[in-house]
Amino acid sequence: MKKVTSGADLVELSRDAGTVSLAPRAAYFAESEEDVVSAMRDASAEGLAVTARGAGTGIPTQSVGRGAILIQNRKAMELGDDRVACQPGVVKAELNRVLLPTGRWMPVDTSSYASCTIGGMVANNSSGVRTVKYGSTIDYVRALRMVRADGVVRSVSQLPIGQAMSGDETTRKAASLIIENQSDIQRERPKVTKNSSGYRLERVLHDEIIDLPKLFVGSEGTLGVVTEATLATLIRPRWKFLLVVESSLEELDKTTEAFRRHSPAALELVDKTVFRKVNRWGEISKYSRSESQYMIFCEFDGADEDRSSKEEEIAASDLAGLDPLVMQGLSEIQQAWEVRNETLAIAQEIRRGTKVLVPGVEDLVVPPARLGDLVRLLAEQLGKRGLEYIVYGHAGDANLHARPLLDPGDAKDMKMADDLMADCFEAVWRMGGSMSGEHGDGMLRAKYLEGQYPRTYWVMRELKELYDPKGILNPGVKIAWRLPP
Ligand SMILES: Cc1cc2nc3c(=O)[nH]c(=O)nc-3n(C[C@H](O)[C@H](O)[C@H](O)COP(=O)(O)OP(=O)(O)OC[C@H]3O[C@@H](n4cnc5c(N)ncnc54)[C@H](O)[C@@H]3O)c2cc1C
Repeated sequence: MKKVTSGADLVELSRDAGTVSLAPRAAYFAESEEDVVSAMRDASAEGLAVTARGAGTGIPTQSVGRGAILIQNRKAMELGDDRVACQPGVVKAELNRVLLPTGRWMPVDTSSYASCTIGGMVANNSSGVRTVKYGSTIDYVRALRMVRADGVVRSVSQLPIGQAMSGDETTRKAASLIIENQSDIQRERPKVTKNSSGYRLERVLHDEIIDLPKLFVGSEGTLGVVTEATLATLIRPRWKFLLVVESSLEELDKTTEAFRRHSPAALELVDKTVFRKVNRWGEISKYSRSESQYMIFCEFDGADEDRSSKEEEIAASDLAGLDPLVMQGLSEIQQAWEVRNETLAIAQEIRRGTKVLVPGVEDLVVPPARLGDLVRLLAEQLGKRGLEYIVYGHAGDANLHARPLLDPGDAKDMKMADDLMADCFEAVWRMGGSMSGEHGDGMLRAKYLEGQYPRTYWVMRELKELYDPKGILNPGVKIAWRLPP
C-alpha cells in the first residue's frame, strides 16, 4: 500500500465535484482489503479521520476531508448468473462493457457513469435517467463486504430477524434500533421514488428480514468502507423508442402524468432557455417545434414480444394527441439523449466573473405528481433573490437539478445560498419530499438533516455512534454531530 503525506496527489485530492476544497494530511492507495484494514489502523494510530473516495465526482462536499483520503485501486469483477461482485474501484462504464456480451445489465447509469465508481454509487445510492422504471443503486445491492472503523472486516447480507438478533453485538443493536423505531421511520419516510438523504432506514426491515446492506447504501462512507459490492443484474431490454414533446409550465404536471401512466423507462426534463443562455440553441432546435419552455424526453423499452403492444397502447392513448417526435433507431435515440446530456456540460460552463453555478438546492425531489409545484417553488425562491440559474432533471421522479450563479468566495452570496436552502428544504418537506434524490447530503446539507427527519435523525445518530464510536469515518458528512478534526 502506498501512503502519501505531501505533494501533487494531496492537492488533487483536496477537491471533488463540489465547491469546497479541504486539504488532507495523508492519502492511502490500497491494493487489497488487507491494505484497507492497515490504512484504518494506521489512520487511527495517527489520529486521522478517514474519507473513502472513488472518482471524486461527489457534489455536496463528501469525498474530501482534512484527515486521510482512502482510495482503493481495486477493479476486479466476478460475474454470476444474475449478479456481479465488484471491487469498489470498478468504474460503472467498465461494468457496463463487461456485462454487454452477457445480455444483462445493471440499469443505474449516473450521468457521470464514465468515471464514477461502484464504491461511490453504493455510498451515495446513486440513480440515473432510468430510475423511474428500474430504481436506484439500493435496489440492486445484494451483499457487501465492509471494513469497519475499528478495522474489523464484515460480510453484510440479509438476515432473518431471529438471526440478526442473535448475531454480533453491533448487528443486534442496529436491528433493535431499527425495529423499535419502525413507526417513526415509516412516518418520516419521504414520499418519493428516490432518496439519498439520511440513512435509508425504511428499507432495512421487510418480509421478516433485516436487510442490513440497505443501511450502508447511501451512508456516504460514514458507517464503514465498502471493499466489495454484490449487485443484481437484469436481462437487457431488446428494444427502445424515444418520444420528445414540449410543454409549458402550466401543462407540465398533466403532460408528465400522461407519460407516467404508460410506465416509461426514462422521463426527463430540459429547460430550453439554458441553451439560449449560452448561445447554443442550434443544438436543441431540431427537437423544438414551439415556444414552450420545457422539453420532455420519454423512452420506452421492453422485451421482444412487448414492442408492438406498447406501440399500440401509446398510439391509442392521449399521448398521441401531444404529437410527439418519435425516434426509433438506436443512433438517433443516442443523439437526442446527447442533447439532453449537454445541459450538464453547459451547467459546468456557465460563469459570470467569480460567480459559478453552486450546489445546495441542486437535487430536490418531491412526490412525482408535484413536479410542477417544484418547478414553481424554484422559480419563486430563486426569482425573488434575483438569481440567474439553470434547471433540468428527472421529470419521472420529480427530481430537479437547479443551480444558481453565486460567488463561493463572497460571504453575502453564501448567506443567500444558505437562506435559499433553508426555504426550499422547508417547502419540499411540506410536499413530502427530500433534500436529495441522488447526490447525498455531504457536508453541504448535513446541518439540515434533523429538519427532514425530526425523530429518525436521533436513530441515525445512534447508528453512527454504534458503527463509528470515535467519529473517524467521513466526519461532518451527513451526520453533523462531530465536526471534522
Ligand atoms: C457531472 C456530474 C453528473 C452527475 N450525475 C449524477 C447522476 O446522474 N446520478 C447520480 O446519482 N449522481 C450523479 N452525480 C454525482 C456522483 O457522480 C455520483 O454520486 C457517483 O456515484 C459518485 O461516485 P464517485 O466514485 O465519484 O464517488 P466519490 O465522489 O469519490 O465519493 C462519493 C461518496 O461515496 C463515499 N465512498 C466512495 N467510495 C467508498 C467506499 N469504497 N466505501 C465507502 N464510502 C465510499 C465517499 O466517501 C463519498 O461520501 C454526478 C456528478 C457529476 C459531477
